[in-house]
Amino acid sequence: MSRVMRLAVAGVGNNISALLQGLYFYHELLKQHVGSAGLPGILHPRIGGMNVDDVEIVAAFDVRAEIIGQDLHAAIFQAPNNYPHLGVTMPQQAAKVALGLDLDQSGAVVRREQVVDELRRSEAETLLYSLPTGMQWAADAYAQCCLEAGVGFVNCTPEIVARNSEVLAAFVTAGLSLIGDDLASHLGTSVVHRSLLRTISERGLTLRSSYQLNIGGNEDFRNLLQNGGSKKKSKKNALAQSAADLDLIEVVPSAGYISHLKDNKIGMINVEAVGWGGTPVSVDLKLKVQDSSNAAGVIIDLIRIAAAAQRCGLSGFHAAASPMLKSPPFGHPDDEVSAAETALASLEPRVAAE
Ligand code: NAD
Repeated sequence: MSRVMRLAVAGVGNNISALLQGLYFYHELLKQHVGSAGLPGILHPRIGGMNVDDVEIVAAFDVRAEIIGQDLHAAIFQAPNNYPHLGVTMPQQAAKVALGLDLDQSGAVVRREQVVDELRRSEAETLLYSLPTGMQWAADAYAQCCLEAGVGFVNCTPEIVARNSEVLAAFVTAGLSLIGDDLASHLGTSVVHRSLLRTISERGLTLRSSYQLNIGGNEDFRNLLQNGGSKKKSKKNALAQSAADLDLIEVVPSAGYISHLKDNKIGMINVEAVGWGGTPVSVDLKLKVQDSSNAAGVIIDLIRIAAAAQRCGLSGFHAAASPMLKSPPFGHPDDEVSAAETALASLEPRVAAE
């Protein structure tokens, strides 16, 4: 089997722009024989025998009329996408954007057969689900299409897919990977906030209150203003590992859409605690990140884990993905990171031997 994984994507938004441009950014570096230590922003240079550029996008779905039928490498630059141009040379892609699933006026899902056919025709191994937050019907329907077409599923969003035990069991029975839910950004407010809360607790201070506010200027932030319910719960799940009392913590997924911020996200984290003698300690932290790079830096690992596990004959959820998710199906155990590294290593020799 080829080392290059065949990926389908649902939703051709900023995440996919960051992912596709990044694949060619790293391809250029690898062609220059830069060692893995020279790859900026990469946690795992190889997973399951696959380098970071061993990914081909073979099918793409969206519902924006203006990009349907377009080559993927052109579609990613159409507004409202506003991830920056990385200035890399991208060849024409195998995938053109196809019309994805939608709801008709009665609320029934349409184009299921066409999506299943396109997934089969493309011989995709894994579908990356990257739609706007809050569309549970779409997450369910794309997952069902994957089951029918024999394609694994990676859920970037906070919608409940891997945490649905029936769906997880169906993927296990079908011999397919199901990785989710909701990616934890590379260095996002969730991981920074969690570390801060853990430090407060480990140093013996007492948490009094904390909040996390996020603002940005991309479509995700505009959508989260109205449809942030599932994201808010998922962000709380990501903080659960810090042992802090979640009732003391407020999380606002989108405290504002500010168009001139474009794809930059600003996270503001506040922690109020008390130390010796009941005296106060206060931390205010501001994080500024390229929002969709923050996603793609984790997506690159999640999709390779899904493909590598499936190639090894493993199915369902894989523990290697757990620290890279806000809401994995089995929660966040304390030894999550070391368990994930062990799980990841177990994928390597079996695939490399093929
Ligand atoms: P985006 O809004 O830029 O892109 C979403 C795309 O999905 C759009 O192109 C839209 O037209 C398309 N779409 C809408 N309905 C569709 C349908 N029925 N079928 C196919 N396509 C459809 O969003 P994004 O910034 O790429 O983020 C995608 C998801 O990832 C969001 O749910 C976001 O919350 C989640 N996420 C992002 C980050 C991050 O950026 N750091 C982190 C964690 C999770």
